[in-house]
Amino acid sequence: MEIYADIKYLKGVGDKRAQLLAKLGVLNVNALLHLFPRTYEDWSKIVSIAQAPFDEACCVKAIVGRKPSAHMVRKGMTIYKTQVTDGESLLQITIFNNKYAADKLKVGEALLFFGKMPGNLYAREMLSPDIEKPEGKQRIRPIYPQTAGLTSKGIENLLETAFKEIGDNIPEDLPSWIKDEYSLIDSADALRNIHFPESHDMLDKARRRLIFEELLMLQLGLIGLKGRSKASTSAIVRQDCSREFIDSLPFTLTNAQQRSVQEAAEDLAKPYPMSRLLQGDVGSGKTVVAAALVYNAAKNKLQSALMAPTEILAQQHFRTFANFFEHTDITVDLLTGSTPAAVKKDIKARLKDGRLQLVIGTHALIQKDVRFENLGLVITDEQHRFGVVQRSELGEKGMNPHVLVMSATPIPRTLALIIYGDLDISVLDELPPGRQKIETYRIGSDKRERAYNYVKKHLDDGRQGYIVCPLVEEGETELAAAQEYAERLKEDSFLDYSVGLMHGRLKAKEKELVMAAFAAGEIQLLVSTTVVEVGVDVPNAAIMLIENAERFGLSQLHQLRGRIGRSGFKSTCILISDAQNEEATRRLEVMTNTNDGFKIADEDLKLRGPGDFFGARQHGLPDLKIADMLTDSNLLRETQAAVRTINAKDAALSLPENSGLKSAVARLFGTTGQTGMN
Ligand code: ADP
Ligand code: MG
Repeated sequence: MEIYADIKYLKGVGDKRAQLLAKLGVLNVNALLHLFPRTYEDWSKIVSIAQAPFDEACCVKAIVGRKPSAHMVRKGMTIYKTQVTDGESLLQITIFNNKYAADKLKVGEALLFFGKMPGNLYAREMLSPDIEKPEGKQRIRPIYPQTAGLTSKGIENLLETAFKEIGDNIPEDLPSWIKDEYSLIDSADALRNIHFPESHDMLDKARRRLIFEELLMLQLGLIGLKGRSKASTSAIVRQDCSREFIDSLPFTLTNAQQRSVQEAAEDLAKPYPMSRLLQGDVGSGKTVVAAALVYNAAKNKLQSALMAPTEILAQQHFRTFANFFEHTDITVDLLTGSTPAAVKKDIKARLKDGRLQLVIGTHALIQKDVRFENLGLVITDEQHRFGVVQRSELGEKGMNPHVLVMSATPIPRTLALIIYGDLDISVLDELPPGRQKIETYRIGSDKRERAYNYVKKHLDDGRQGYIVCPLVEEGETELAAAQEYAERLKEDSFLDYSVGLMHGRLKAKEKELVMAAFAAGEIQLLVSTTVVEVGVDVPNAAIMLIENAERFGLSQLHQLRGRIGRSGFKSTCILISDAQNEEATRRLEVMTNTNDGFKIADEDLKLRGPGDFFGARQHGLPDLKIADMLTDSNLLRETQAAVRTINAKDAALSLPENSGLKSAVARLFGTTGQTGMN
C-alpha cells in the first residue's frame, strides 16, 4: 500500500470510519501515521499484585479464578465481580455494566489487567480495568485523542494494520547529513516507535526526531514565506561607533542593553543584512538600543528609517531621537500623514540625496514613494503587530537594508523563534535601575468613587494619571462613550483638575497637541481609549485606572499598565471590573500578581493557546502537532542551526538531497488537507 493512499482503502476502514477519521484530519495513511498519541500506557512493565502502587495505573498479569458473578444493583446497572491471581496474591476485579468485558474473563486464562488499584494491603481491587490477552499487548501502548465513534483502541488497531500494509513504503524527508549531525533516527523507525514504542528510550528518540522534523519544516517554510534571501548587502557598517553614543547618554546602559547593542553592531558589520528582533518588556529601554544603531549607521554614511505603528508613537519617537541626537550632526525628521505637503516634499528630497539621515514615520508612508540615497537600517517598532508583509516589502526597497524589529510584547522565547523564525533575537531581560513594582489592584465598580479619590491624591502630589475608558458596547461608538465619560469627570469628580481626552478619531495634529499637553504636565488626567496603549512615555504619570478591565486581553492590559511606573515614582494600577467568569478572573489575578511581562505572556499563551497568540493563525502558521512550544526550546535552537546550514548551502532546496525537505515544506504550508498536517 502507498502512504498517500486514501484512508478508506485501508483494511478495516469503510466509508463510515473514513468520515470519522476525516474529523480528526486524517484523509490518507500518512496522516494516520501522523496522528500522534496523546499519551501512553505502560503495559510492558508487569507488577505483582502485592507490590502494585495504590494510586497509579499499572499492569497486572493474572489468571481468572472463577466465572464472574453478575449483580444487578438497580435497573440498568449490573456489576460483575471475579477474583484473579498472579500466583501469590488475590485481586478483586469489578466491572460496571459491561457484559462484553465480563464475558472475556474465561476461567484459567492468563490476561493483562490495566488500571488503578485502590483498596488496602489485604484486599486489593481493580475497578473496570482495561483487559487484554497478553499476545502483542504487553508493551507501551498509545492512547489517542478520540472522537465520537472512534475509540483509542480502534485507532491503535488501525495503526497496526497500517504499518503491516505499508511495509517499507515510509519515505525519508531528511537528508542523511542532518540525521547524522543531529543524531536523529530514521523516519520509519520514528513513526513506528511514536505509536508502538519498543522501549522508553526509543520513544524519546522517536519524539526527538519528529519534533525536530516538524520545527525544521516550519522554519524552512517561514523563510520561504517571508522571502528574505541572504543576499549580500552593501550597507556594511565597518566602524562600530556605538561607544561614542553610549558615553554621551545621561545614564548608563543596563547589561542587557549593552549586550543587545553589541549583538546588533556585530550583525551590521557583516556583508549580509541583519534580521534581528529586539524583544523587551515595556520600559526596558529598547529605544536607546535602536538609537545606538542609527548613530552607528549614520557615522558610516548610511541612512536609517524608523517605522512606528501609530502617529502618536511616531511623534514620540521623533521627539526622543531628536533629543538623543541634539548635540550631534545627525539629522532627524518626521514624515507622517499629517506632515504638510511642502515639508513632505522637502523631506523626500533630502532622503533622496542623502542629507537626511533618519526619517521616522508610520508604516504606510515609508512604503510609498519614498526614495533613499543609501538606506542601511530599517527599524520597525512593531508592538505586537506581526508585519511579515511590511517587513519584506521594505526589504525590496533598494538595497537589502539591515532590519531591526522592536517588539514591546514579551513573547515566550520559544514562540518568538517560531513567529519570527527568520530573525535572530536579542532580549532585554532587565529593567533600568530604580524602577518600582507597579502595585495593581482589582476592585468592583461600587468602589469607583474611592478609586477616583485615590487618583486625586496622586494628582495633588504633582503626579499625572490615566483613566482608560470603558470599552464600548456593540452599536455604541468609541468616540461617544469616551467623550461622555470624560465630560462627566470634568463636570463632577474631577471638576478642579485639568482633564484631557484622547481617542482614535482625533486628527493626528490634535492627538499631538493632547499628548504634548500631557507630556508638559498641562493635562493632569488623561482619559483615553486604548490608543494610549502604544509606547507612550510620560514618566510623571504614576496612576492608571482601567474601566471594564475584564474586556482586555492580558498582553493588552500589560501594555496599558506599562504607561505608568516609568520613573522612580511609586505607581499604582487599578482594574475596575465586576466580571464573575473564571477566565476573566484568572486574567485579572495574573495582573495583580505579577509585573513580569514574560510571565504574563506565558499565562496568556496558556489561557489562549498558541494558535490565538497574536493572531498567529491568521498569518497562516500551521498548527504544531508534537512540538510543545513552551518546552522544546533546546530542540528549536538545534533546528535553527540546521536551518542556517541548509540555507547557506541550498536556500532554494533544489539539491537532490533536499528534495524530501522541499516537498515536506510544500505539504506543510500548501494543501494542508492532503496530508492531515493542518
Ligand atoms: P521601551 O522598551 O518600553 O520602549 P523606552 O525605550 O521607552 O522603553 O525607555 C523607557 C524609559 O527609560 C525612557 O524614558 C528611557 O529614557 C529610560 N531609559 C532607558 N534606558 C535606561 C537606562 N539604562 N537607565 C535609565 N533610564 C533608561
Ligand atoms: Mg518603546
